[in-house]
Amino acid sequence: MEFNTKEKAALLAELNRGIISHAYIIEGAAGLGKKAFALDMAQAVLCTGDRKPCGSCSACRKCADGNHPDLHIFTPDGNSFKVDLVRDIRRGVTLTPGEGDRAVYILQDAHLMTAAAQNALLKVFEEPPLGTVFFLLTEKREALLPTVRSRGRTVRLSAAEDGQVYTYLKERFPKAEEKALRDAVRMAEGAYGRAEAIMKKEGKTERDAAAKLCSAVFRPVSRYGLYTAFLGQARKRESLVQIIDYLTLAARDVLCAKLNCGESTMLAPEEAAGYAAENTGAALYEIFEALLECARSLRRNTDGGTALTELCRRITQGKG
Ligand SMILES: [Zn+2]
Repeated sequence: MEFNTKEKAALLAELNRGIISHAYIIEGAAGLGKKAFALDMAQAVLCTGDRKPCGSCSACRKCADGNHPDLHIFTPDGNSFKVDLVRDIRRGVTLTPGEGDRAVYILQDAHLMTAAAQNALLKVFEEPPLGTVFFLLTEKREALLPTVRSRGRTVRLSAAEDGQVYTYLKERFPKAEEKALRDAVRMAEGAYGRAEAIMKKEGKTERDAAAKLCSAVFRPVSRYGLYTAFLGQARKRESLVQIIDYLTLAARDVLCAKLNCGESTMLAPEEAAGYAAENTGAALYEIFEALLECARSLRRNTDGGTALTELCRRITQGKG
């Protein structure tokens, strides 16, 4: 199963015609395959064969094995990309490439670069050494300085079809239960990396956190109480998105229990029935919608606090 094939084909066609930018901004939500995309492109850039990537030249083989000396991958340390790291990159860039006449730098989570780091990078962009190609991977292009943005060619990765994600999961987890596969596809919303993480149960902590939050969501005491309950469970943005996904599943279960349609996916049937009995159908629908909207706005990179405030406002409407 290949993803982002259209974007890949377009860029490869350019590369093979000799059109190459010195900086690409690869934008897309978590799990859409930004790194895989950049690695494929890096191989094509470094390939010495005729039709790039040929897959058989020494450069292609080294890229596939992850040990090409001119392919450099940088990740932020902790929550930011410090200026020191970019200085290291700059120092490296000014040296001549080790093997061929090209070098590729992949910067993951480029939106975490501090302004100082971006300005340092800009100096490289202003006088790009011949044969150096940058791939800046980001969930949030707007977090890059306009000057950086304007010097890179942006490629936006889009969500895959549910059917594609399903096929991908089925190949990887042939023994998994059908329901688990379908749930993962639904929650991932086209991000195959996230679907895979869900199948590997990487979100177990988040699922537990969501289970703990259920009573606060379906029996809200006050807006402030609900907000602090969320803060108590979700400290990192990435976990918050997953927690909201699981809560959305839970809300679906409660709605289904209320309307007597479909079975539970996340909650035990008796728990879902309990919450259903305590809420009106309209209130449950509002909770479900509010959670969906919260997940959407988090994926559009709305600040976590803002998204949570709106969620808590909608859930506790009329409850103080
Ligand atoms: Zn090659």
